[in-house]
Amino acid sequence: LYNQVQDLKGNIRVYCRVRPSLGGRSDFKSVVDSIEEGTITINTPAKYGKGSRSFNFNKVFGPSSTQAEVFADTRPLIRSVLDGYNVCIFAYGQTGSGKTHTMTGPKDLTETSQGVNYRALSDLFFIAEQRKDTLQYDVSVQMIEIYNEQNGFNVPDASLVHVASMYDVIDLMKLGHKNRAVGATALNDRSSRSHSCLTVHVQGRDVTSGAVLRGCMHLVDLAGSERVDKSEVAGDRLKEAQHINKSLSALGDVISSLAQKNAHVPYRNSKLTQLLQDSLGGQAKTLMFVHISPELNAVGETLSTLKFAERVATV
Ligand code: ADP
Ligand code: MG
Repeated sequence: LYNQVQDLKGNIRVYCRVRPSLGGRSDFKSVVDSIEEGTITINTPAKYGKGSRSFNFNKVFGPSSTQAEVFADTRPLIRSVLDGYNVCIFAYGQTGSGKTHTMTGPKDLTETSQGVNYRALSDLFFIAEQRKDTLQYDVSVQMIEIYNEQNGFNVPDASLVHVASMYDVIDLMKLGHKNRAVGATALNDRSSRSHSCLTVHVQGRDVTSGAVLRGCMHLVDLAGSERVDKSEVAGDRLKEAQHINKSLSALGDVISSLAQKNAHVPYRNSKLTQLLQDSLGGQAKTLMFVHISPELNAVGETLSTLKFAERVATV
């Protein structure tokens, strides 16, 4: 039933989330003119053709939206995973727009500020427990980092880890994030330049028939989508930027060709899309949270983020 409900809504959905202003100034002027259900309107300054521009999504979450509200629509997808479907959830946006906040939460994490990753796993264990008389579930997780189109495993010596409860998940995520932060400095934060993927593998065994079903969920905090000025960077930074650009546009191409039901889907154009191939398209469900910053100085990136998402969404 859950999958039927989901199917009616489509297998690809794109949500936009606006980060609140971080300065705490009461006279702060956001570039967001208005938000109405699925439509967001941006005030564009002269440089981008003075006026306003609207974009449509499945839903738009304003700056005061809570983590619980943002997760609410993701809930049915968790059930799908336990029913044996594959799911991908992405956080897209420029560095500083709130991707990690949505997926993980703030640094001083509390139960209410937990992001999608925690809530998804917590729901997963809850539903698995409810079904335990008919289905016995086995859950394992894997944390993968894709940097410069190469895989890296955030959890040493244990790429795929069996988890029995939320406690195991929390421990593992702490370890993964710690490893990801190694070598990062304030100015040279590699985490914003790699894709961080938490993959959850679920296997359910019917206690009477012994039949087995498998589902998989990828929770992806993508690398920052900002363009770098080629005249200002060189060497490693330029190479990183080119890899990010390549994988994000490949992802956009894959999702938009799925949304348009094209016969050919260009999975092979990047490591990221190759890795996620089995969970993109077919019966799989995709959700993308597109993040934007409300500041005027970010409006150029905000507009290109929204244009990217609009092309992907075609809702
Ligand atoms: P990104 O991962 O896209 O680089 P972050 O998630 O790190 O961005 O967000 C940048 C800063 O803004 C962080 O300090 C984060 O806690 C804060 N922030 C982001 N989104 C929100 C939100 N919805 N509410 C409150 N603070 C937020
Ligand atoms: Mg981040």
